[in-house]
Amino acid sequence: MRILVTGGCGFIGSALVLHLVQNLGHEVLTLDALTYAANPVSLASLEGNPRHRLLEADICDPGAVNAAFRDFAPEAVMHLAAESHVDRSISEPGAFIRTNVTGTQVMLDAARSHYEGLSGAGRDTFRFLHVSTDEVYGSLPPGGFFTEESRYDPRSPYSASKAASDHLARAWHETYGLPVLVTNCSNNYGPRHFPEKLIPLMILNALEGRPLPVYGDGLNERDWIHVEDHARGLVAVLERGRVGQTYLLGGRAVRNNLSVVKALCAAFDRLRPQGGPHERLITFVADRPGHDRRYAIDPGKAEAELGWAPTKSFEAALEDTIAWYLDNQAWWRPIREGRYRGERLGLAPAR
Ligand code: NAD
Repeated sequence: MRILVTGGCGFIGSALVLHLVQNLGHEVLTLDALTYAANPVSLASLEGNPRHRLLEADICDPGAVNAAFRDFAPEAVMHLAAESHVDRSISEPGAFIRTNVTGTQVMLDAARSHYEGLSGAGRDTFRFLHVSTDEVYGSLPPGGFFTEESRYDPRSPYSASKAASDHLARAWHETYGLPVLVTNCSNNYGPRHFPEKLIPLMILNALEGRPLPVYGDGLNERDWIHVEDHARGLVAVLERGRVGQTYLLGGRAVRNNLSVVKALCAAFDRLRPQGGPHERLITFVADRPGHDRRYAIDPGKAEAELGWAPTKSFEAALEDTIAWYLDNQAWWRPIREGRYRGERLGLAPAR
């Protein structure tokens, strides 16, 4: 199958592209603007692989996006490109509206004109999978879980822009008949995660003996899913999801932030006893404005309908993630040292 993946040089996108090409043998065009959050080195193992191509393009550029559809003639689209960091959305909301809202509209329009030109089996099987977050549902009361019926209540510029993009994707299905699927997923962790996010930031700070900053009282709860479980879930939705439906994907691993950081310190004590005990590095800092208290996913619909389920145990996979960062310093050191932005390490983009 020919699959167009947007945002494939990011954290989740790269795990997905590697899974699609290396494990499933699909042909993939990665369309990515290579913003600060991209790391083409994540796809270095695909260099020279005839089933993969990287196109440097902005999803807000209709000319570039339409040309990609024309040249590659995708049989499916998996749309992940986004501005994704909540803290940045608070200081620079404009970039989030542009990429997440306008960019999604450009992708949907291009997919629609491509779809309208298809006929026969190609038209029956074409899918547009829009990848989104559970943050669109806002904050849960203690013990609560999101389901596909939960009410939208986004509370940060990031989640508001993702909520808008979800509504656009559903509207293109209802209004134009585009075969859209939507997924909303919980917090991901695993290899190749940009070091501004909670888990990689804590890993690298612990490695360097720096403070581990925990927002507020540390009791905000999140559901954690390993990025490879997420990638498998996205493929399950693409292959077996019902058109027009939404599927929630989660890891069945709800933890508060403080217990995540403590689990990480315990794993560091085992892997690097010389720097321990690492819990002494935990430092509480002023809370993020509008910090939602609890997100938790009930993935029961995806499990029942798609035969998919998360497989990783959180604490064991967290330790594997730490080991990945210890073994792959060449991946993160240039980013950590501020040398990465603007560099094109490894893969040469198609234009
Ligand atoms: P990321 O920030 O690691 O990667 C985003 C990628 O999109 C980068 O490669 C970047 O260069 C690219 N991009 C950004 N703007 C672009 C533009 N205008 N045109 C083309 N490419 C552009 O993000 P991620 O964590 O991998 O998230 C991927 C998707 O999954 C996002 O849509 C996000 O909302 C969603 N999601 C993320 C999580 C999570 O925990 N990280 C959870 C649920 C859903």
